[in-house]
Amino acid sequence: NSDKLLEFRVMPYAKNQRLLIVRDVTTYRQMDESRRQFVANVSHELRTPLTVLQGYIEILEMNTQQDPMQEKAIEMLEQQTTRMCSLVEQLMTLSKIEAAPTLDFYETIDVSALLTQIEHEAIALGRKKELVIKFNVDPSLAIVGDELQLRSAMSNLVFNAIRYTPDLGSIKVIWKKVPEGAYFCVMDTGDGIAEEHILHLTERFYRVDESRSRDTGGTGLGLSIVKHSLSHYDTQLNIESNLGEGSQFSFIIPKTYID
Ligand code: ADP
Repeated sequence: NSDKLLEFRVMPYAKNQRLLIVRDVTTYRQMDESRRQFVANVSHELRTPLTVLQGYIEILEMNTQQDPMQEKAIEMLEQQTTRMCSLVEQLMTLSKIEAAPTLDFYETIDVSALLTQIEHEAIALGRKKELVIKFNVDPSLAIVGDELQLRSAMSNLVFNAIRYTPDLGSIKVIWKKVPEGAYFCVMDTGDGIAEEHILHLTERFYRVDESRSRDTGGTGLGLSIVKHSLSHYDTQLNIESNLGEGSQFSFIIPKTYID
């Protein structure tokens, strides 16, 4: 039946024997697609009222009566609306990335230019915390693929490093050729992550420390976006971390994608 979606898995059984497991995943996939579609629609609908709210907050900001209570209230309104906007943006990115079974585009991505943009944003963000940020990029290493997906993966990792590294820490970003393909790595001297959390980090809304992550402006969706983006490049995220010392997030884009 061509309408059915089947999933095949081969597992070791006895010596020299394999077990083939065939699962009908049609209903599961349909439900997953309805969930994705629902999230995409809701986030899209939330965008307009949020933009309207931001406009009114700007008007309030221009007309405060020098009342500290009122100023504080407007500041909180501004902060929370900005948080909601990033959540909506991240939800839309995740739905978009989840929707495509494969990459949407196979175009040459000038990764060096992309990383220069991310570096400028990172330096601006890291200034307040006096972070030392170093990008070590091979300018000739370009790949073929969809820029949105690669940008999402790289920028989420860099901005997380900034978010979870205390003042005066350092962050190093590497983009270089290795025998297996193109290697990207973000190292930080931040909080680090305990081993039991590492396996769960790419789940939607999973956070090690709920309140800390919220305070730093996190949405809990960054690493699931990274995971989905990377799956389109047939690769996955490696996470190594030592609690209190720092973390290293890396991936290798297979050499078939190198331009
Ligand atoms: P968030 O928006 O909360 O940062 P993510 O999906 O990007 O969500 O990350 C999930 C969780 O992983 C974060 O809440 C944080 O606890 C942890 N995390 C991510 N990156 C780092 C990092 N560089 N150092 C320490 N912890 C991290």
